[in-house]
Amino acid sequence: MYCEIYLLDAPYHIDRAFDYILDLPLQEGDIVKVPFGRSNNLRLGVITRVKAESEGERLKSVHSRIAESYSLNSEMLGLCFFLKEHTLCTFGEAVRCILPPGALRERENVKYEKTLRLLIEKDAAARLLTESGRAGIRSEGQRILLQFLIKNGQCSYDLARELAGVTPAHVRALADKKIVGVEENESLRNPYLKYCLERDSSEIILTQAQRRAYLCIEELYERDKAEAVLLYGITGSGKTKVIIKMIDKTVAEGKSVIMMVPEISLTPQTVSIFCKRYGERVAVIHSSLSQGERLDAYRRIKRGDVDLVIGTRSAVFAPLDNLGMIVIDEEHEHTYKSDSDPKYHARDVSAYRCGKNKALMLLASATPSLESFYKAQNGSYNLVPLKERYGGFSLPKAYIVDMREELRLGNVTPISDMLLKELAGTYEEGEQSILFLNRRGFNSHINCKSCGEVITCPRCSVSLTYHTSKTGGRLLCHLCGYTDAVPRKCPSCDSESLSFLGFGTQKVEGVLGEYIPDVRVMRMDADTVSGKLSYERMLDDFREERADILLGTQMVAKGHDFPKVTLVGVVLADTSLYVSDFRASERTFSLLCQVIGRAGRASDNGRAIIQTYSPTSEVIRLACLQDYDRFYEGEIAIRRELQYPPFCDMAVLTLTSDSEAELLRASKSLSDSILARLNGEYGKYPFVVFGPFEAQVYKLNEKYRMRMIVKCRLTRETRRLFHELLCEFSPDRRATLTVDLNPLGI
Ligand code: ADP
Ligand code: ZN
Ligand code: ZN
Repeated sequence: MYCEIYLLDAPYHIDRAFDYILDLPLQEGDIVKVPFGRSNNLRLGVITRVKAESEGERLKSVHSRIAESYSLNSEMLGLCFFLKEHTLCTFGEAVRCILPPGALRERENVKYEKTLRLLIEKDAAARLLTESGRAGIRSEGQRILLQFLIKNGQCSYDLARELAGVTPAHVRALADKKIVGVEENESLRNPYLKYCLERDSSEIILTQAQRRAYLCIEELYERDKAEAVLLYGITGSGKTKVIIKMIDKTVAEGKSVIMMVPEISLTPQTVSIFCKRYGERVAVIHSSLSQGERLDAYRRIKRGDVDLVIGTRSAVFAPLDNLGMIVIDEEHEHTYKSDSDPKYHARDVSAYRCGKNKALMLLASATPSLESFYKAQNGSYNLVPLKERYGGFSLPKAYIVDMREELRLGNVTPISDMLLKELAGTYEEGEQSILFLNRRGFNSHINCKSCGEVITCPRCSVSLTYHTSKTGGRLLCHLCGYTDAVPRKCPSCDSESLSFLGFGTQKVEGVLGEYIPDVRVMRMDADTVSGKLSYERMLDDFREERADILLGTQMVAKGHDFPKVTLVGVVLADTSLYVSDFRASERTFSLLCQVIGRAGRASDNGRAIIQTYSPTSEVIRLACLQDYDRFYEGEIAIRRELQYPPFCDMAVLTLTSDSEAELLRASKSLSDSILARLNGEYGKYPFVVFGPFEAQVYKLNEKYRMRMIVKCRLTRETRRLFHELLCEFSPDRRATLTVDLNPLGI
């Protein structure tokens, strides 16, 4: 027999199938080692096809197989080719992306653990608990363990030790009496097991509006072909309840579900809702799990032990069989698009998998991406709206404050009079506030008064931000992490008059403390949140009212459900409005809607105050009204007029080099190469080419970057142009070319 093999570490220009002799009992999807090149060094590869004949000469043989538990099934193999074709990555990059990190090891990372199991009938065990005298069991620890085993049948040794009052001696005693057996098994680490102890299978009672939405979705699900539906529900409408009801239905039919949520929403609260409902048949996948935990989650899924996978973007690759539904919650979030190779969008991968499995793709959002809403409008997605807040609470009333006026009146702090009064009032009422500012640090930059120089990062072309700390202030680069002491003199003219301009969350924290005595402010941004745990602890603390004001960046804006919050303030709504990205309005609108939607989720007293230097901005005005429909109408008209997605596709080509001279040479040659192709065989397609020009951040981490942008309609034929360019530039070691198809930011 023969087979075709793709190597896992081939550079782009030689990423293709190689023929080998196959004299081992292996099949398509198996991961193998093969000799390659003149030296016959062993390299990793995947068998993509087994065949009876080969035209190749002097073929070598497949050496051996590795990572048995991670062989790719035919759906996953197809998915690798889909990723290669649609994101222009190598086959190996696709495989590494689909498999959990650490899967491609020679020796598998398997841990063994002890499991306790009842050796006698449950009734007999229960009698031991009630019987008096010598026959019964008196020891409190033994009784607790026994009760637990009667209820659950078995439990891991580690879990038994976590039960209050149970010690190893208690386990040993029960084992000696032959009541409990101790087995050693392959351990599949599941750090969420503790959430499964408490169960909640209560029926969800939907409101009438929710029920209507549910029935529409259910009907689509039952069509038994691939369908896509956009659940478009305002903030607080109870989308989650509708989704859970659909998961109930799918799981009850013996099918499996993937549910993706943005990183920020994957809190213990969220996870425990699902663990309580679906018990041990839930797997959670996200990047802060340890490598071993991820591998075990993957193996549990592959063994068929899991019905529901919850996770961030990469959960879309969960190797579930019999997939019935894929949910993408907050589908507009930009984290669903990967920005390293393969640069896939979870929505595209979902559509592919739902197609193969005849499953339902359920997208949910209060502010859908323009692309998705457009598809819902033109019929390629089904649209299911949900337009009332649960409990009938009204949407927050939003006010716009003109910060130019505030300056004129002599207020030089970042907080307007109105916002300050409302914050103080809310605090006095015993209610909570959320204050949002998309910029951390104390000041945003330092500027020399005498020569105008702004102090920038030596590695990147951006300004450094001033941060205070207990040990004194420092300058920090938000892109590469470079830090430096605060200079006393201007590095370019030696003048000592430096001014600290702009403000970040640290400065706002100071202002609040000064003007509202005793108020407890919790600041949440990348500086105060180190690691996942502290983020979750802070959210818990705020929910339990150990702070009055939650002040922070994006982290405070999304998804949270704090019933006590009645006031939301946006310190500066303009921050993302005027960057040169065609998605800036969309992003500003959805962010503002999300933040405003945090107020008044359990009362009619929700208020939002939006501070801005551009009070006439239509985007801000519509966000205050939470009027997505109007926003969409305006924005889609602009996109149509200017020919932006969804009316075309975009490819962003980036050249990177540590030498500016090499970069110039490469961009000239890239541009020539594109133009030659467009004047030749690609002339029949409508391509529009811009650039080369310097990237918005020209220098990043010591590397210089030039860009070209191509507008086109991506098809199998037109994608080929970018494939050819990558092949042409892949051998060039002095400048690297990357291509991002339909990136979310430029
Ligand atoms: P969304 O995701 O649409 O913003 P959520 O699903 O978070 O809204 O619901 C908002 C709040 O209303 C939550 O606290 C949720 O528990 C509650 N809620 C919504 N629908 C129901 C329902 N049918 N029964 C009980 N509580 C509900
Ligand atoms: Zn100067
Ligand atoms: Zn930097």
